[in-house]
Amino acid sequence: MEVTILGSGSGLPQLDKHLSSILIRQANKLFLADCGDSCSHRLLEYGIDADQLDAIFVTHYHPDHLGGLFMLLQMLYLQNRSRDLLLFLPERLASFLEIMQLMYTYPQKFGFNLLIRSIEEVELYYDWISAVPNDHLYRYAPIITEYHLPNQMKSWSLCFNVANGKFVYTSDLETTDCISDTLKGAHTALVDAGHPQAEQILKLEYAGIQRIILTHGINPELENRKNELNPEIFEFAREDFVYKI
Ligand SMILES: [Zn+2]
Repeated sequence: MEVTILGSGSGLPQLDKHLSSILIRQANKLFLADCGDSCSHRLLEYGIDADQLDAIFVTHYHPDHLGGLFMLLQMLYLQNRSRDLLLFLPERLASFLEIMQLMYTYPQKFGFNLLIRSIEEVELYYDWISAVPNDHLYRYAPIITEYHLPNQMKSWSLCFNVANGKFVYTSDLETTDCISDTLKGAHTALVDAGHPQAEQILKLEYAGIQRIILTHGINPELENRKNELNPEIFEFAREDFVYKI
């Protein structure tokens, strides 16, 4: 399996980083996990043509993970994509379709079938991929309760099981503890270093993971403790580098 980080930035745009998006190749499959703002341009840079993507995963509805999806779908439509496209979403699928209508982007007009599914069901389509719920959005509970909002606080990490071992994309999370069973013994983990406390990242040294790639920026607490990161295990995400698993 090959993993290419198209965007490794945090939620605050920076000139030297793209927003969250990763490209995953395994056998004859090509997936995009998260759709940060510039993902369409990034796919053009890689010469990915309209029919190549098999599925898109959106781990949660924060703008830095979702913002590029609408342009991507418009691009695939204008590029005359014809193959079915699976789109796995974290929650509220009907609301997503309403946003597409709001943008006058009607899947009925597409030359391809946009198959929108809950990310919880990914294993039904690819038995070697699983979506694991994480705690990233729980902090919104007070405002959701106070204003009776429909948000379900669903945020997901993804685990890809291949012959050489597991690749785990944590996406954003508050603690690594919430998916510790999934991370344990992974070949490679692409881990959010922007949100969790430093201790939550540092303790992964002992989780039996061969390689931990830190992405989504680095929080100030971890920045201060950077020298405690074992360089044999931890590294910082390099956009455009092809990680092999
Ligand atoms: Zn987020």
